[in-house]
Amino acid sequence: MIKTHNFGAGPCILPDTVFEEAAEAVKDFNHSGLSVLEISHRSNPFVEIIEEARDLVLKLMGLTSKTHTALFMHGGASLQFAMAPYNFLNNSAGYINTGVWSKKAITEAKKVGSVRLLYDGESVDYKSVPDHQELNSLQTSGYDYVHLTSNNTIYGTQFKEFGTIDSPTIIDMSSDIFSTIRDYSKFDLIYAGAQKNIGPAGTTVVIIKKEFIEGIKTNDRFSMLDYRKHIEAESMFNTPTVFSIYASLLNLRWLENRSIRVISEDNSKKASLLYQAIDKSAHLKGYAEKTSRSEMNVTFTIENSTIAAAFDKKCKEENIVGIKGHRLVGGYRASMYNALPIQSVQLLVDIISHIDNA
Ligand SMILES: *Cc1c(COP(=O)(O)O)cnc(C)c1O
Repeated sequence: MIKTHNFGAGPCILPDTVFEEAAEAVKDFNHSGLSVLEISHRSNPFVEIIEEARDLVLKLMGLTSKTHTALFMHGGASLQFAMAPYNFLNNSAGYINTGVWSKKAITEAKKVGSVRLLYDGESVDYKSVPDHQELNSLQTSGYDYVHLTSNNTIYGTQFKEFGTIDSPTIIDMSSDIFSTIRDYSKFDLIYAGAQKNIGPAGTTVVIIKKEFIEGIKTNDRFSMLDYRKHIEAESMFNTPTVFSIYASLLNLRWLENRSIRVISEDNSKKASLLYQAIDKSAHLKGYAEKTSRSEMNVTFTIENSTIAAAFDKKCKEENIVGIKGHRLVGGYRASMYNALPIQSVQLLVDIISHIDNA
């Protein structure tokens, strides 16, 4: 097999063991003579899968089922853009706009009710996110909730800290969940599409603080869009995404084995390796401000088109894929999710120094 180094922004690389175990389960799930693709979601084996996955999600966040509920839902993070306001926006919500995904969340929320923009990163071309101090200086009290995006996948910026937010807080963590040590208890609702750090595309993880659920006021919500229905049905209000949840469980077990602390250290090492190479390079220019740099998505440009062509050629030769930047930003984006080995990053760094010395 040719080793391909996958720097794709999502769906993302997963550990080899996850691919192997998932492939085995597609053929014969736990020696049952059935494929995981055909087992009933009501069968005991699947109920055990979803329960273990739910427990692991909470455990990896340092939370428990006493205070929080974890759900596996459909519709991606994008459905949460609509569902969060649909359930929680009564009077007004505060939004922190740090990029494309935040903006999409704002667009949906405005269809539901009153939205106040507390911070607008558009004025800085989304090159930075507010730091601790800036966040604390925002007026965040009195809202049904304040919404933010922890990591801006397209621009390559990431919050290091979240300051003090004086309203319930909803956060889109799609692209950096489980990548670093976070105080997840600060948030009232957390959501993440699985396909960036949790598992294959299909399921979306939603974690809600129990006392926050009690705040859902109206009772006339479409059932499929009502968090309470999903909570009551323990994520089986309708047929769940069985395979995506199973493969996510395999990855969650891998995460637990390695520990988030080790994962976090690895991610920091990978990021500093690549950022150092970018800063040293005469040809590469980082997109994000240094203080807001993401450890997950590294964005950069190469102005000289001859150099860029040489870089592209070398990447192709070395089987590096997925580093083309998002069409809105251009340039390059190297996504380095949890399972990306440091060897892949080292290879990219070697290519950078190769073109620099050419
Ligand atoms: C990818 C991404 C999304 C969109 O996720 P879907 O599951 O495709 O809807 C939302 N927010 C962030 C931060 C993302 O990176």
